[in-house]
Amino acid sequence: MSDAKLFRNYIGGEWVEAESGERMKVINPATEEVLAEVPKCGRSEVGAAVDSAREAFDSGPWSRLSPSERSSLIFRLASLAEEEIESLSTLESMNQGKTIKQSRDGDFPFSIDNLRFYAGASRSLEGLSAHEYLGTGTSFIRREPIGVIGQITPWNYPWMMAIWKAGPALATGNTIILKPASVTPLTTIRFAELCEKAGFPKGVVNVVTGPGELVGNELVSSSRVDMISLTGDTATGKKIMERGAATLKKLHLELGGKAPFVVFDDADIEAAAKGAAAAGYVNGGQDCTQAARFYVQDSAYDSFVKHLVAETGKVRIGNPLDRSTDMGPLVSESHRAKVEDYATLGREEGAKLETGGSRPRSVSKGYYFEPTVFSGVEQDMRIAREEIFGPVLPVLRFSDIDEVVEKSNDTVYGLHSSVWTGDVRKAMLLSRRLRFGAVQINDHLPITSEMPHGGFKQSGFGKDMSIYSIEDYTQIKHVYVDITGDKRKGWHYITYGDT
Ligand code: NDP
Repeated sequence: MSDAKLFRNYIGGEWVEAESGERMKVINPATEEVLAEVPKCGRSEVGAAVDSAREAFDSGPWSRLSPSERSSLIFRLASLAEEEIESLSTLESMNQGKTIKQSRDGDFPFSIDNLRFYAGASRSLEGLSAHEYLGTGTSFIRREPIGVIGQITPWNYPWMMAIWKAGPALATGNTIILKPASVTPLTTIRFAELCEKAGFPKGVVNVVTGPGELVGNELVSSSRVDMISLTGDTATGKKIMERGAATLKKLHLELGGKAPFVVFDDADIEAAAKGAAAAGYVNGGQDCTQAARFYVQDSAYDSFVKHLVAETGKVRIGNPLDRSTDMGPLVSESHRAKVEDYATLGREEGAKLETGGSRPRSVSKGYYFEPTVFSGVEQDMRIAREEIFGPVLPVLRFSDIDEVVEKSNDTVYGLHSSVWTGDVRKAMLLSRRLRFGAVQINDHLPITSEMPHGGFKQSGFGKDMSIYSIEDYTQIKHVYVDITGDKRKGWHYITYGDT
């Protein structure tokens, strides 16, 4: 008999199992043991969640709350999360494998701040000012919620992605159905508990666990779901676009990335190497903004590689719950296998393995992989082009600005990038020429509630965080009110009569 904790789903304000009674096992990637079990839901549970979200949106009390009342609920939710931060961040680390430093000091405080930002910002949305643009009536803009939103989250930042989706959607009056990634559903279920405790009306927040191909697809296909928001693989985004076409679904897609990290020879090379290790191994490299291909100017190349290898040697692998651990295991056995295959591929493609490239010998259990650096990487190698999503860092060369701009932009992705230089002119030039949703100068990663996060090209569309995410979860309506009181208006003759 397993002592794994049993988690249920939250649908229509009730805590429920799958109708079939089926469950999915949730594994702790550091120990390979079963940590919990969650319902394996399908069509009927999604149907029930859509019914309850629809009811709460169309006729429930939610739609009648003022922005101020909704905002108060979200502030309460943020405070409850803050009270529970130790247990939430520990659970996240046990389920995802991320270090407690990252979870407790990064993801959780940051997403609590995100919630507070959404709660406040939703009260100050803007539109055109009301005016008699035609002279005969007053026009004004109503900004309204979209409706019922299916929100599909990934496994790399389970709680934070749930917040980036639920926060702005709830703040603007939508109702939601969250579908967490099957390997990391636990903190999303705890999120629903906190919503219940905060006093969100029944049906406003629903959580349904189950396979993406089934639960996710059911949400995408439903004609009663108004919008789908996904963070995940670009391939999944494409499937969702295809399947959502039948109902012309509004989409918000945050997809893959392969961020360039451009180092000019006038940069502080030691600082750049430290930044490279920090942003390359963040969250075990399982981050769509991860520094994922390093372009270093010829004369600085050897020095950069030497420093990066030295910094890599300082990364401590171990139990994610120890505060002295810098990198935990990867999220799953299958994901480690994918990363390992890329490390093998790097060697086969002719890149030089500088360090790492294997499973660490120091740990006997868990889906660990060594931080890895390849030098001598060429632009056409797959390790330089494809999203590895792990701690494998390819270093390439360039000689001038035009070459590095071309190589950096030579990708289907367009999420994040950084430039390291002591020359403000180069910094400004590249911030214009790089086709990515973010360009950072002499740093790589920092994000803030006030600024948008989202891609260009096949990294998707729609923004997370900032006022722009709030706008994405609303739609605007033109209201026109006649002020003439005339029975026959001045324009009616165009339809019939002479004047
Ligand atoms: P997926 O895109 O498959 O998973 C993301 C979410 O989408 C999960 O909740 C998943 O559910 C769900 N999903 C999967 N298939 C469908 C579908 N057909 N319809 C609706 N929802 C679906 O990513 P993976 O977990 O497979 O990771 C693969 C790669 O994607 C990674 O190696 C990485 O390269 C990239 N990735 C990028 C992320 C980012 O932040 N941009 C985040 C995660 C992954 P379920 O878990 O049940 O399959």
